[in-house]
Amino acid sequence: MPDGKPAGERCIQLDTHNRCQIFGLPERPEVCLRFSATVDVCGRSDPEAYELLRWLEEDTLPKGDSVSTQGQ
Ligand code: SF4
Repeated sequence: MPDGKPAGERCIQLDTHNRCQIFGLPERPEVCLRFSATVDVCGRSDPEAYELLRWLEEDTLPKGDSVSTQGQ
């Protein structure tokens, strides 16, 4: 995503099985390369991951902003 991925927005690189289509390719963003998936962030299922990510995004938003749930 040329301008970065806004909070709450689905990454355009995810396929229909929620797998990264550019995993292992040089164009994968640095932030993704540095991220290590852990159960406390990603949970043990897709619904658990969405809930944890929504909570993390809401908890780290500047005051007055809200999280979009578009694409989830
Ligand atoms: S690893 Fe990065 S580029 Fe790939 S789907 Fe996730 S956020 Fe998108």
